[in-house]
Amino acid sequence: GGGRPGKAELQKARMRLSLQEHLWAFFHERVAIPSEELAVARRAALDICAELRVFLHAKLPDMPLREMYLSGSLYDDLQVVTADHAQLMVPMILEKNLWSSVPGEDTIMNLPGFWLVRRENLEYFPRGSSYWDRCMVGGYLSPKSVLEVFEKLVAGSINWPAIGSVLDYIIRPVVPSETLALEVQYETDRRLYVDFLPLLVMEDGVSLIAKPHRLAAERHENLWRQSFRVAETTKLRALDQEDSGCRCACLKVIKAVCKLNPALARLNASQISNAILLLSEHEGNWTQEALADRFMQLLRALVGHLEAGRLPCILNPKVNLFCELTPLEIDELGYTLYCALSDPESLLRT
Ligand code: GDP
Repeated sequence: GGGRPGKAELQKARMRLSLQEHLWAFFHERVAIPSEELAVARRAALDICAELRVFLHAKLPDMPLREMYLSGSLYDDLQVVTADHAQLMVPMILEKNLWSSVPGEDTIMNLPGFWLVRRENLEYFPRGSSYWDRCMVGGYLSPKSVLEVFEKLVAGSINWPAIGSVLDYIIRPVVPSETLALEVQYETDRRLYVDFLPLLVMEDGVSLIAKPHRLAAERHENLWRQSFRVAETTKLRALDQEDSGCRCACLKVIKAVCKLNPALARLNASQISNAILLLSEHEGNWTQEALADRFMQLLRALVGHLEAGRLPCILNPKVNLFCELTPLEIDELGYTLYCALSDPESLLRT
């Protein structure tokens, strides 16, 4: 064409400009959490963590655990909209010679990203040689059974009303919940959910968490979930640091969109992070001015991954990050995002 941009192109440029402005306005008004709110929520979670440490040391001094710690988006500035949840990591110590990990793709389930933890040497070290033998089911360490042990403790034998009144919170265990969680009401209108997440760090550095497979068939009950969260967030942050990029801002905007739109609630931080990391492999411009372009490109990429029914994990491409969605859920997510491609602003009107 000639040197002058056509009418359609001008209109497209105008739309992009306004989307860019709207995205940043949305970021500041809805996505970002005021620092005071963050501080109070973090304080509440820390207080609970401290109480639990004291309780476990006193009540179960021989339970082989490393020190519990808090983690999640609340602690690495990736939480959005409201400061309302955190994970309490509970690292379990396993004897190296008694337990080994088997990758999911080498099992009958053929599920990359999930692992079995097998008890070894039972003939020389009979049942009872390892503290965690009490959670062994069919020769494997059962995450479900591990969660039940903690559930009995946390929901059954800790006097939360008493601890809550000392700390000036209202604390109650959430039952039933997918995992094990505490609800902490730390101001009349503010609630924080603290998830218990038992964690195994295997010899090869693989981190496994006791978070059940979502489509938990009985045969999935012994599976531990590999956690890639630390590596994913570290990588995103490092890339942003190199080029003062907007990847984390983009992640937060899309996380907020998913938190505020029930039709998108099934998309999680890990899927969005990986879509951004995949896009970063062949898209270099992540300047603040490019937020709207990258946002649109990500929506298109997500639609594409959903159409394929597959989103590979950047740290292990054999892992399909959509493997816990049903075909219907994949269709619905794809449809909602596809519609948003022609009216992205609709995602911000919530
Ligand atoms: P957000 O909850 O959407 O703000 O995202 P996060 O990045 O905080 O992710 C929290 C989710 O990731 C929870 O559902 C956890 O069960 C899961 N998860 C997987 N691995 C880890 C891990 O190593 N640490 C934490 N904190 N959460 C993990």
